[in-house]
Amino acid sequence: MTMTISSTDSLNVAVIGAGTCGLLTARELLRQNHRVTVFEKSDRVGGTWVYDSQIEVDDGLGLDPNRSVVHSSLYSSLRTNLPRPLMGFSDYSLEHRSYGDSRMFPGHEEVLKFLEDFANEFGVIEVIRFKSEVVGVELRDGNKLAVEVGGGTAEEEVFDAVVVCNGHHTQPRVANDIPGIQEWSRKQVHSHNYRVPEPYRDQVVVVIGNGPSALDISRDIATVAKEVHLSSRSSDVKASRLDGYENMWQHLEINRVFGDGRVVFQEGLSIEADIILHCTGYKYHFPFLRKTGVVHVDDNRVGPLYKHVFPPQLAPRLAFVGLSYNQGVLFRMFELQAKWIALALSGKISLPSQDEMLIDVHKHYQEMEENEIPKRYTHSLNFQFEYVEWLGAHVGCEVDDQLKHISKNAREHFISHLNSSRDTFVI
Ligand code: FAD
Repeated sequence: MTMTISSTDSLNVAVIGAGTCGLLTARELLRQNHRVTVFEKSDRVGGTWVYDSQIEVDDGLGLDPNRSVVHSSLYSSLRTNLPRPLMGFSDYSLEHRSYGDSRMFPGHEEVLKFLEDFANEFGVIEVIRFKSEVVGVELRDGNKLAVEVGGGTAEEEVFDAVVVCNGHHTQPRVANDIPGIQEWSRKQVHSHNYRVPEPYRDQVVVVIGNGPSALDISRDIATVAKEVHLSSRSSDVKASRLDGYENMWQHLEINRVFGDGRVVFQEGLSIEADIILHCTGYKYHFPFLRKTGVVHVDDNRVGPLYKHVFPPQLAPRLAFVGLSYNQGVLFRMFELQAKWIALALSGKISLPSQDEMLIDVHKHYQEMEENEIPKRYTHSLNFQFEYVEWLGAHVGCEVDDQLKHISKNAREHFISHLNSSRDTFVI
C-alpha cells in the first residue's frame, strides 16, 4: 500500500463510531478538507456517554458472542472521575459550559450534552450515518479500503482511509482464573451490566477490582446490600472494614471460591456470598477488521501499532483513536491522536518508515518485558504525561502545565478522600 500523500489531496475517509473519539476525528479531518463519513451503529452520538438502562440480561458476563450487545457500560449514578477542566478539548471546554449540572465532577448526562453540542457546533453531525454498523473492512486495489455496512442489505463503499473509533468499554474482561470459579453456581455479573443498586438489595456481594468502577459501584451497592466485600489484587490495599461503612470490607485477592457460595480471601477470611461482580475491565474488540489481517489482539495488546495509533503496514490509511488510556487527560489525548491522523493524512506530518515504526513498537514491547509489565497493559499510560507531551509537541497543540497539575492534585485528593473526593475537590 502506497503511503505517499500530497498535502493537496482531499481524501475520502471513513470513521467508525460517533463517540468522543469519532467526533473529534471527524472534526479534525473536516478541518483538513477531507471528505468524511462517520458510520455509527446506534441512532445518536456520544457512545459510552449514552446511558442505556438495558442490560445484557441472559449473560451477565458477556461471554456469548451471539448475545444482543448493549454498547454503554454507564451506571445510573455515574459522575465523571475527572474534574471538568480535564473533560474538555483544547478549544471547546466543559469547564466554561454547563447544562444544568455545574458540579466539578458532573453526572454522565452533562458529558453527553457537551458531546452533542460539539457535534452540532463543528458540523460533524452532518457527516454521520446513523444505524450503520460497520461489519467489515478489507484492502482493495493496493491502496484503498472497502467498508462493509451490515443490516439487511449489506453495502460496501471504498475509502482512501479508515479511522477506527469503535470504543473499548463494551466487551467484558472477566476474572476467570480464580481457583474454583468453574464450580461457582451462584450469580456472576460484570460491571458492564451494572446500572442501579436495587437488584443487590439484601445480598452479600463480592466486588472484584480496584479501578473507578469497582470503587463507585461497591459504594452504590452498599446503600442496599447486606454486605459488600471488595477484593483486589493490588499490593496497595489492606484487608479491613472500610471507614464510614458498616457493611463494606476491603479484602486481598480471592484465594478460592466454592460451589456452595464460599469465598476465601488471601488474608484467610472466608464468607458466603450471593453474587460475584467483576469490575475487571474490558477487552479490545475489532470484529470488522478480521479480513485485513494487519492488526491482532493478543491478551489485550492491539498490535503492531505505532504509538497506539498507526499499524505500520497500512499507516496512515488505517488508524485508531482512543486505545491508549491515561488516567489524567483522556479527552485531550484523544484530540491529539485525532489531529495527528488528520495531519498525517494531509501530508503535513510525515510518519517514519514502516521499518522504523515497527522497531519503535518492538522497543516498547521489550521495555515492558524488561520491567515485567504484563502484555495486557500495553496501552496503559497510567498517570504519565510523556506520551501526551510527545503528541502535543508533534501536532503543535501542547497540553497546559496547569491541566497536568489539576490532574495530579485530583488524583492525590482522590486517594486521601476516597468517600468524598468528588464533592470536596477544588482547583
Ligand atoms: P465510545 O464512547 O464507546 O464510542 C464508540 C462508538 O462507536 C459508539 O457510539 C458505538 O455505537 C460505535 N460503534 C462501535 N462499533 C461500531 C461499528 N462496528 N460500526 C459503527 N459504529 C460502531 N473517560 C473520561 O475522560 N472521564 C470519565 O469520567 C470516564 N468515565 C468512564 C466511566 C465508565 C463506566 C466507562 C466505561 C468509561 C469512562 N471513561 C471516562 C472512558 C470513556 O470510554 C471515554 O471517555 C470515551 O467515551 C471513549 O470514547 P470512544 O469514542 O473511544 O468510545
